[in-house]
Amino acid sequence: MSWTERQQAMLQEIGIRLWLPPEAQPAADAAPARPAPGSEQVAGPAAPRLEPSVQPAPMVARGARPTGVEQMDWPALREAVAGCTACKLCQSRKNTVFGVGSEEAHWMVVGEAPGEQEDRQGEPFVGKAGQLLDNMLAAIGLSRGEPPPVPGEGPAGPERRVFIANVLKCRPPGNRNPEPEEVAQCEPFLRRQVELVKPRIILAMGRFAVQSLLQTTEPIGRLRGKPHRYAGVPVIVTYHPAYLLRNLPDKARAWEDLCLARELMRASRD
Ligand code: SF4
Repeated sequence: MSWTERQQAMLQEIGIRLWLPPEAQPAADAAPARPAPGSEQVAGPAAPRLEPSVQPAPMVARGARPTGVEQMDWPALREAVAGCTACKLCQSRKNTVFGVGSEEAHWMVVGEAPGEQEDRQGEPFVGKAGQLLDNMLAAIGLSRGEPPPVPGEGPAGPERRVFIANVLKCRPPGNRNPEPEEVAQCEPFLRRQVELVKPRIILAMGRFAVQSLLQTTEPIGRLRGKPHRYAGVPVIVTYHPAYLLRNLPDKARAWEDLCLARELMRASRD
């Protein structure tokens, strides 16, 4: 297997060291190794926790989830999520976080729920964890935006594109674990997103997303390394980038998971 310079750089960024033939070593070694994203969080003193200036959220009246989610198109689904008041998370959110990426992508990434920055920006996987996710995806040639051109190839097709969503579309206050009733209310939105995107593979990231999608209480360590299914789509289980920022040794396992997903995709095309 050969790696482009860009992929080598991305792999260094996510903390994966490649064996390279001797003639390739100088280029790979020329750039000083940058610390992996988030590694300073492990090595350095804990950063003081900054409490956001909390403005009391306007009280939103709870209501029922819109009906007919299973038949909605993209605009209707976006509108339904934006106005959803089906669980109590609507009362503390700043923004709903619908998802981002290509609606025709062959790859889908599913995380658990928005954090503080995602809630502010209305986009999933932002900040350091989002940066790490983007680097992990780039290492296998994927992007949530426009994939970088590959020399000799035309514009990137859906096989290099990703749609990213969470199980929950609103932030649980204080990043607490989602409650079963919240998951039950929100899950039809994700299911419809999967039906509309029609991905060839889903990367489920983090314990909560994995257990919600697969309806299991098994830990990630027992679920990794083999394909599962959600709504008829193969699911590969891996660690959440925010977890990987705090647990650097598990980056190698996450890389194995990405490689397994890529092998599955290749096999499905053959
Ligand atoms: S978390 Fe989901 S079900 Fe709850 S209010 Fe937000 S969009 Fe609606």
